[in-house]
Amino acid sequence: MSDCLFCRIVAREIPADVVHETDRTLAFRDVNPQAPTHVLVIPKDHHATAGLLVGADPGLLADVVAAAHAVAVQEGLATEEAPEPGYRLVANSGPAAGQTVHHLHLHVLGGRPMAWPPG
Ligand code: 5GP
Ligand code: ZN
Repeated sequence: MSDCLFCRIVAREIPADVVHETDRTLAFRDVNPQAPTHVLVIPKDHHATAGLLVGADPGLLADVVAAAHAVAVQEGLATEEAPEPGYRLVANSGPAAGQTVHHLHLHVLGGRPMAWPPG
């Protein structure tokens, strides 16, 4: 989709600080980080929300989650054995959640304590 910001990052038409890539996923640092680690993990194919992706291609959603965990390990937020020190995965879906880019992305957040409930 040529009018989608994240599709344009996948196409390398817009620069991004890429930290992890597989054949079906891409991960890059958020331009406006909310934590010491703030990485966005996306499927290379365009799907607007997690709900739409899981209906169309559930294996790809699993790939995105696996890539997010790999990023967390790479960033020192977890090991393969334990969730220490830990990290947060966020998927905003729709206007009430504040989704602004309509290409599914998981936020990987870590490096500081995370409050609950979120804002
Ligand atoms: P959402 O609010 O849709 O869950 O998250 C969208 C995220 O994309 C925001 O955290 C925002 O900072 C990030 N973002 C918006 N435009 C760009 C961009 O051009 N490059 C990068 N790396 N991140 C972006
Ligand atoms: Zn897209």
